[in-house]
Amino acid sequence: MSSSERAEPLDVVVVGAGFAGMYAIWKLRQTGLNLRVIEAASDVGGTWYWNRYPGARCDITSMEYSYGFSEELQQDWEWTEIMAAQPEILSYANHVADRFALRDHIDFNTRVTGVHYLEENSLWEITTDAGQRYRARYCIMATGCLSVPNTPVIEGQDEFAGKTYHTGNWPAEGVDFTGKTVGIIGTGSSGVQSIPVIARQAKHLTVLQRTPNYNLPANNAPLPDEYRSRIKRNYKEVRKAQRHAQIGVSEFSRGLGGLGSNAEPKESILQTSPEDRVRALDELGFEALRQYNDLALNPQANELACDMYREQVRRVVNDPETAEGLMPRDYAFGCKRPVIDIGYYETFNRHNVSLVDLRRGGIERITSTGIRTAQGHFEFDVLVYATGFDAMTGALLRMDIRGRDGRTLASHWEHGPKTYLGLQMTGFPNLFTVTGPGSPSVLSNMVVSVEQHVDWISDCINYLDQKGAGSIEPTAKAEDAWVRHVFEIADGTMLTDESCNSWYLGANIPGKPRIFMPYVAGVGAYGAQCDAIAAEGYRGFVIG
Ligand code: FAD
Ligand code: NAP
Repeated sequence: MSSSERAEPLDVVVVGAGFAGMYAIWKLRQTGLNLRVIEAASDVGGTWYWNRYPGARCDITSMEYSYGFSEELQQDWEWTEIMAAQPEILSYANHVADRFALRDHIDFNTRVTGVHYLEENSLWEITTDAGQRYRARYCIMATGCLSVPNTPVIEGQDEFAGKTYHTGNWPAEGVDFTGKTVGIIGTGSSGVQSIPVIARQAKHLTVLQRTPNYNLPANNAPLPDEYRSRIKRNYKEVRKAQRHAQIGVSEFSRGLGGLGSNAEPKESILQTSPEDRVRALDELGFEALRQYNDLALNPQANELACDMYREQVRRVVNDPETAEGLMPRDYAFGCKRPVIDIGYYETFNRHNVSLVDLRRGGIERITSTGIRTAQGHFEFDVLVYATGFDAMTGALLRMDIRGRDGRTLASHWEHGPKTYLGLQMTGFPNLFTVTGPGSPSVLSNMVVSVEQHVDWISDCINYLDQKGAGSIEPTAKAEDAWVRHVFEIADGTMLTDESCNSWYLGANIPGKPRIFMPYVAGVGAYGAQCDAIAAEGYRGFVIG
């Protein structure tokens, strides 16, 4: 009998075998729950399985962007760089799967298409693209926030005769760009990481850029021995500190580079003179922007930083017209996720790289040989989409999820995602989301947030089982209040500024409601609320 056809329902079905689904296996197995994980890919790793584009790497120091659940694992595993590249992170995921025998619980190459609540027996029925059916008391969506690649609809795109790739679904065998003319659309994190690497191989690379980003230098390097041993000596404290930190990176990594590990910014840019700022750029380049503490909330301070940024682009990029084209304007520094780059601007000084600034005339259509823009036609052998993801809600809304009374998640979220704590939705009992909208999620070191969510869910299931309770779901009142709270604390920051068209707001997907989705109060403040709510007998939830 296949796992999906067993007579007895499972305790838990988990959808997704990225870092969240993998940890869910380890954690829930400890408590004796019987579970299956369903994964569309042929192996574990999630993000790091799919995003194999050249230059892919994490933007948080790997000693911290890694699991904390096993002291032996964190002592044994050796990272080679401060911020590991994708192949190393995928090896780590494979190592974890082997070491803890996780694959035994996973059905690979299987995509979940339907998730329906059977009210009469309080079970979830999960159906797949291969026609399998699973039933379980609980369903955990570990489907990822950045797991649905977004390919914009552009007229003529099917006519292109060359090869087309998306950074978020890169072929496992890699792509050889040698001797090829390549066009790339998109200059977010994926574009900025891949452009310098593709440029080193391709005959010619044309970057089609609609919105230039604000980038900061990665400062990546081989992992310093002193740092490695300091972290390993203190891993228990590091993991504890992560759970109390703003973005889930501890003070043990201060000064190392990468998100969350900058030195504490001490200076107010508003207190500096024009001469001070020129001197700062002379001494530190783009790095100078990391030292100011008033950019996030003060628009005037932010504008001064943007001026400094543009001046530094001018200094690094030789051709004045290209430099002008690469300068971000009209939106605030910090409203989008900062892009961590390695040699991005220098790449535009290469003879085989050119920029098409689409602000001067956009894409009209894709032809059989390239892309026609208002500025002319550009020919390519290969076209790369680095055009991002239908983030945070995309994977959930692509499944047909139906809760009580057959109500779809799509209708519950018609005007934007509504959750309580980013963990549950009203009307969808016993269905949990890991790093869902309304939790710190993509604003955090996500391995930390994944572990915190899975721990909370596991404790919640144990609590219900001990009480002999059959179901849990948030009250409509608690859900509404949480949605308001998430919105209110983001309001007034650069993140929700009108000029900002970030994927945090869903603004990258035509027709998606413009709502700020993650929770900005930080990992520490959020975790404290989750713990308090559980300690008060799951305040705001109805236990049936
Ligand atoms: P994922 O890794 O996305 O895994 C979700 C899994 O669910 C996927 O394998 C997918 O195939 C599967 N799935 C989805 N829908 C279905 C379905 N219907 N049926 C079956 N299976 C399904 N975060 C950081 O904190 N630091 C970083 O440096 C960082 N770098 C990143 C770099 C890139 C290129 C990208 C795209 C994201 C990055 N992130 C980073 C975010 C990253 O997504 C998380 O850190 C983390 O890997 C998420 O793990 P997850 O298990 O929650 O989701
Ligand atoms: P992204 O930030 O959404 O960037 C997508 C890019 O494609 C943008 O430049 C966008 O331009 C452009 N684009 C989209 N549609 C277009 C169209 N029709 N015409 C022209 N340009 C178009 O996506 P991403 O770069 O894949 O990054 C998404 C997130 O994944 C990151 O923010 C980060 O959280 C994570 N990530 C992290 C890393 C890392 O450093 N560790 C690496 C990759 C990804 P507009 O801005 O004008 O829309």
